[in-house]
Formats: sequence, C-alpha cells, structure tokens
Amino acid sequence: MHKDATIFIAGASGMVGSALIRKLLSSGYTNIVGSYHSRVPNYGPIPSEKAVGGPAPINLLRVDLIRQDEVRGCFDAIQPQYVILAAARVGGIQANNDLPGQFIYENLSIQSHVIHAAYRAGVERLLFLGSSCIYPKKTPQPMREEHLLTGPLEPTNEPYAIAKIAGLKMCEAYNRQYNTRFVALMPTNLYGPNDNYDPDHSHVLPALIRRFHEAKRRGDPEVVVWGSGRPRREFLYVDDLADACLHVLALDNQLIEETFLNYPSPCFVNVGAGKDIAIRDLAEMVGQVIGYEGEICFDPSKPDGTPQKLLDLSRMSKLGWRAKTSLTAGIGLAHKWYLRHEH
Ligand code: GDP
Repeated sequence: MHKDATIFIAGASGMVGSALIRKLLSSGYTNIVGSYHSRVPNYGPIPSEKAVGGPAPINLLRVDLIRQDEVRGCFDAIQPQYVILAAARVGGIQANNDLPGQFIYENLSIQSHVIHAAYRAGVERLLFLGSSCIYPKKTPQPMREEHLLTGPLEPTNEPYAIAKIAGLKMCEAYNRQYNTRFVALMPTNLYGPNDNYDPDHSHVLPALIRRFHEAKRRGDPEVVVWGSGRPRREFLYVDDLADACLHVLALDNQLIEETFLNYPSPCFVNVGAGKDIAIRDLAEMVGQVIGYEGEICFDPSKPDGTPQKLLDLSRMSKLGWRAKTSLTAGIGLAHKWYLRHEH
C-alpha cells in the first residue's frame, strides 16, 4: 500500500475508525478520506512516527451510509483504492437486547452499500470488520474460523451477529463472482479511546471504567457488576486492532490469496489478544487501576450472555502479527481518555 494511496475509512468518528486514522496518519499515509454521520471525528493527537513535517490533513465527508445514493455519490467522488469498513451500529449486551431491529437493519444496510460500491469502484482491497459474536454459542474454545455456522448463535446478540455473518459472506461471494479482494478481520471485544461510555448501552469494559470512576469520586461503598461475574471475555485495545488492519492491508497479493481468497476456506481471520478473563476478575482489575477500595457485588437479574469468547489466533500469528498492549496498560490508557472526555 503506497503512502499516497487513497484510503477510505467508512465510519471515521467511531472507536475503530478514529484509531485507524491515528494509525494511518502516524505511519505517514497522506491521502485519507473518512466518512462520518452524526458526530464529527475527533481522533486525538497523532504521534507522527513516520510522517515528514507532521501528519497530513485528512478529508472528512458527511455521508449517511444507510442511504445507498449517498454511498454511491461518495465513492464516485473519492475513487478510493483501499476501503476499511469501520462503520457499524454497535453496543453491549443491553443495547443489543433493546435495539435488535436497528442492529440488524443498520448493519445490513451500511455493509451492503459500502461493499457493493467498493465493487463498482473497482477498489484494490476492502477490509470488512466483524465480531467474535459470529460464532455459535457452544463453540469449542478457543474459537477457530472454521467454527462459523456450526450451531445456533447466542440469542442476546443474534441480529447483530447475523448482519456480520451476512457481511463476510457477501465479501466471499463477491470474491468468487467478481474476483474482488475483499477480506475480513473478526476482532474480539474492543475497548479504547472514543468508546461508548453510556451506562446502559456500552460494552462491559467502558461501563466498568465509568462505574468504578464515579463510585470512587462519590465514595460509594460498593459497585454493582451485571450478571454472575463468571462469563469469560477476551479484550483487545483498539490501537492494536488498527495495527492489525494495516498489517493485513499491506500483505503481498500471494499471502492475501492464500489466506483470504482460498474458497471454501474462510475469507476472514480472527484478531484478539490471546487471553480471556472472567468478568469478576476484570472488575477487580478495573477497580485496582482506578484505585477504588470498596466492595464489588453482582446483579444476577442482568444477562450473562455467552459463557466464553476466546479466539484462536493461529491464522493471524501465521501472518506475523500479535497484539502489543497488555490489558492493565490498555485499561489505564482508556481510563485516561475517559478522564479527559468525561464531560
Ligand atoms: P458481550 O460480550 O456481547 O456479552 O457484551 P458486553 O460487553 O455487553 O458484556 C460482557 C459481559 O459483561 C456480560 O456477561 C455482561 O453481563 C457482563 N457485564 C458486567 N457488568 C456489565 C456492565 O455494566 N455493562 C455491560 N455491557 N456488561 C456487563
């Protein structure tokens, strides 16, 4: 991928999109276009490792990706060579439960429009981002790419998972019919700057950062954690995911073909940190990083969701990539970001 290639980040204001922009700018890419809808992107300070004379500016376009006409117009205007589809309706276990219609409709619409527009525009590569919830609820752990569609999904996030499965099957079908190079990464639970810290609709890690922080400030004697505390999850700091995305986009054609375009083997690769942790232990870790000294208790009326989600990372390690940020370091970084943006 040349430093002046036109790279389009669909969904530049979200946690993943803004991490991608930080990574691309700090790596010296000069021709980046990002789309946003309701929030203007705020990707934060750029450590300019390789950018000569500081990072280049990026172009931002306001596009409603749920509207096919706007997506077509945007592709006609930009003519991107590389596309990363980081736009999605996302949220934690309760958001998935409260908004199942929006989760399926918005994700199916956004991804169909962007993938089809990328095909029409003849882009060199498109990177689709899925989620570890695509795997069946009872998948043997760690979960391998081949486990896709081998059993029923976890009901709490089935509409979202179905949309993501449709997205990667659409990439696979276009690769087969049109010889496109559409590849996908399946990240585990992500966290970091620009995450959603809404107390009800966020994922567990931002929810706990906020709850422990507020409990410490108010001097509360206890913090409530949802569910039994027994489910196990794997967490990846979002800057590590951005690094993984660039690693994949920069692979040579032969590796892309062998790994992603070798139908019927899966057109996607898992990306994670390699370790999982029980929610109970995660809560203790967050409490320690934040310096909260009260008690932790559990609310069994809230759903646990799937008992365990740990990805098998053999395919990603074969491509020469591994995560760098430890969970404690990442929680510290996310907490710092939260402190700066609390209001
Ligand atoms: P999931 O990985 O799709 O289940 O999504 P979440 O990140 O929302 O939830 C992961 C696990 O953390 C579930 O077992 C939740 O019950 C548990 N959890 C504990 N406290 C919280 C909280 O405050 N918010 C959320 N979203 N989950 C919590």
